[in-house]
Amino acid sequence: MRAAQATGATALLVTHGPDVRYLSGFTGSSGAIALLGGRATLFTDGRYAEQARAEAAGARVVIDKRPPGVQAVEWLASCGVTRCAFDAGLTTVAELEAMKRALPGLVRRGFFQPTDGLVARLRQIKDEDEVVRLRRAAALGCELFATVLEYLTSSATETQVAAQLEFMARLAGVEGMSFETIVASGERSALPHGRATSARLPAQGFVTLDFGVVLDGYCSDMTRTVHLGRATEREWEVYHSVLEAQQAAIAAVAAGVRCADVDEAARSVLRSAGLEKEFAHSTGHGVGLEIHEGPRVAAGQQQILEPGMVITIEPGAYLAGAAGSGRSHEGRSRSRGVQRATKGFGVRIEDMVLVTSSGCEVLTAASPKDWTEL
Ligand code: ZN
Ligand code: ZN
Repeated sequence: MRAAQATGATALLVTHGPDVRYLSGFTGSSGAIALLGGRATLFTDGRYAEQARAEAAGARVVIDKRPPGVQAVEWLASCGVTRCAFDAGLTTVAELEAMKRALPGLVRRGFFQPTDGLVARLRQIKDEDEVVRLRRAAALGCELFATVLEYLTSSATETQVAAQLEFMARLAGVEGMSFETIVASGERSALPHGRATSARLPAQGFVTLDFGVVLDGYCSDMTRTVHLGRATEREWEVYHSVLEAQQAAIAAVAAGVRCADVDEAARSVLRSAGLEKEFAHSTGHGVGLEIHEGPRVAAGQQQILEPGMVITIEPGAYLAGAAGSGRSHEGRSRSRGVQRATKGFGVRIEDMVLVTSSGCEVLTAASPKDWTEL
């Protein structure tokens, strides 16, 4: 609220679902919170009357047919508020217009004070209860990955693998997946965000699984890359460069460290391995009620890590195909060394970590990252 007051506002309007949930506990899809004089009032509609009263125990609950944001600003104006902070980045032009129309003409001008990410900044630092939930979501992700390994065979399609994973997640009691499960196999592993397709897993090649579950409102996010069949020397090398980069970034995480420096810890390893251009995304992101939250762990990000932040560390390398022949990483001593043109492939390894004052705790540590040939 202090940050909202800096704009000259005496009230704060919150309409973004995850922010509403964070502040009140209300999980319905239609709600707005007005913060005034240190008290929260939750506005929603009749569909959510009982749910709102049960979930948002600490807030006054108002039920009405009109859009919750409209209800909230009308009520604020009736309380004599003339300046109200709102999140401009999370409000559509149409929503803002509808809320303006609900205000008396005299109040309308200057009423809305744009701010950016006020609640999002609070949400970056997880309290103990949130850490417990994130830890449980991350642990479940690790269990699911261990169980889905047996389905990674060349007779399965990517969508079947995703379906199996999601089915087991549902049985384990998740609310849903954090995002559309990524199963990218063979040459498709070179696509950083390859959604599962009807393609069959290859007899030889990488499979990247990037997925997360939502448990008790909180998201997990992890990636593992395994190899089916015998790998080429190049595949083996690239995997280990990515692993080394990932471990270097995890080692760099601690309270007081700039996000840019964590990113650089991963990037410098891949640079010395000649893979800088092949790592074309950022190193990580915050995770919590939403799958992508602050802070951004990327080049140039000056934000300082603080205890209680939960971030991902997920470097990768994605290589386009090339003509030529690969050799088994076990070398010439093995007579069945693999001879084939280098197809495109990619590797990504992702963990969730909790920032602590002295370093970090890897929340997905139960899932091994050692080289795996199935
Ligand atoms: Zn991920
Ligand atoms: Zn991620």
